[in-house]
This record gives sequence, C-alpha cells and structure tokens, in this order.
Amino acid sequence: MTVLSLANVAVYYGPVRGVVDVDLCVDEHEIVALLGANGAGKSTVLKAVSGLVRPRAGTISFRGEDLKRVPAATRVRRGLVQVPEGRRIFPALTVRENLELAAFGFGIARAARRARLESVVERFPLIRAHLQKLAGMLSGGEQQVLAIARGMMAEPKLLMVDEPSLGLAPQMVESVYDLLVQIAAEGTPVLLVEQNVTLAFEITSRAYVLQQGRVVLAGHSAALADDPRVVAAYLGAGGAAAR
Ligand code: ATP
Repeated sequence: MTVLSLANVAVYYGPVRGVVDVDLCVDEHEIVALLGANGAGKSTVLKAVSGLVRPRAGTISFRGEDLKRVPAATRVRRGLVQVPEGRRIFPALTVRENLELAAFGFGIARAARRARLESVVERFPLIRAHLQKLAGMLSGGEQQVLAIARGMMAEPKLLMVDEPSLGLAPQMVESVYDLLVQIAAEGTPVLLVEQNVTLAFEITSRAYVLQQGRVVLAGHSAALADDPRVVAAYLGAGGAAAR
C-alpha cells in the first residue's frame, strides 16, 4: 500500500523555485531516499509534506487522504512525523525530559505518556543507557538517535529524516542507519533525505535524485548505485533556478 504520494508538486519561496513537478511515493515497509546536492530541494519536499510550506501546485496524499486542507499540527497527529536537520534537541534537559516534552508536544494524553516512553526506550538501547544524562552531553550520534527516538514518541506512520548522517563519525552513522532499518522493519516506512549517496543506497529500496528542484532520476537503489547519472546530477548541481 502507498503511504505517501506526491503528484506534480511545486513549491516556490516568493519568486524562487524550491521544487517543481515532483512525483514521489513511499510504500509500506520501505526506506526511500531523497537525494541531491545542497539547494536541490530535498528539505523543501519534506516541508511541503509536513505542511510547513504550501505547494503552489500538485497533490500530496497521505494514506489515501489529500493533505491540502490539513494543517501541519494535524498531520503530525495523523502520524506524519519529521526529524529535522540539525536534531534540534534541548541540550539543557535530560534525555528523558526531551522525550517527555515530545510526548507533550505531540498531544499524547498524560495517562499514555509513560507507556509510550517505555516502549520507545525499550526499542532504543542507546537511549535507555542515557536517560538521566543531559542531552547536550551526548555525542553527535547519540543526539541524532535521540532526535529519532523523539520522533518515534508520536508512533509515526511515516518518519521523515533530514540528513541524519551530517557531521557524524562513520561508526555512528552505521548505528543511526541500523536504527532506521529497524524502524522500517517494525512497520514504519522512512523517507530519508541524504547528501551521502553511497550510504543512502545501502539501506534504501528506492531513491529519487533531485537537481535544481526537479526529480532527474528515480528508481531502485541497487540500480542507481551504479548509475553515472547520479554523480552527474550532483556535479551539475546548483541552487534553485529563478522562475
Ligand atoms: P540542503 O541540503 O542545503 O538542505 P536542499 O536540497 O534541502 O538543500 P532546499 O533547502 O529545499 O534544498 O532548497 C531548495 C531551494 O529553495 C534552494 O535554492 C534554496 O535556496 C531555496 N529556499 C529554501 N528555503 C528558502 C526560503 N525560506 N526562502 C527562499 N528560498 C528558499
């Protein structure tokens, strides 16, 4: 079943084109990569899906429902959850407090918060080991795991993760990627934004490559991994074209 589908989506920032003509889908149990160089439009796609920017054209459907009139906060409650680039955790709060705050932010009823926290902690050993630690004292990789765990507090039906490998040591990247594989295997599909194509192809089933706001390549990751056009899309990258 298709969980997320975008058809013909265009987003502009005033006169600047963010993305145009984007067709994309994510099915159940999949990890799908959204690739492209700086400024290619990856974050814009996520923002459009989350409802943080309003498309000028096209349709975004989530589990068969057109999202056009669904506000961002309602999308989160329906299970459309984004882990933002840069993690945005609260460094002066403990790991547990970060998760509790997320539960509050997601509007989870007080009575259910504890069970939700326990279920997330259970699934994330890296979090379990550091519950009482200040989040700011965690390594970059651990903070990324916390950011993902925070997203999982919402029990998402689709998790969108924006550049989780950014600035992490290779070993930590592997842990974070293993976690995404686990999350997808347990039933939550993942839309993964990455700049590191080699890494992304390893864990995704399909990928879309954006260049200057357009999808220039799409297909199975195994095939795209050997496709020279992927590198060309990066090398030929630039910022958004003016309208
Ligand atoms: P990065 O990897 O650097 O995050 P990206 O692929 O996510 O890049 P976007 O951030 O989606 O790219 O940007 C797509 C285009 O839209 C870029 O040209 C960018 O300059 C432009 N853009 C993004 N946000 C805004 C904004 N708030 N105002 C104006 N233009 C914007």
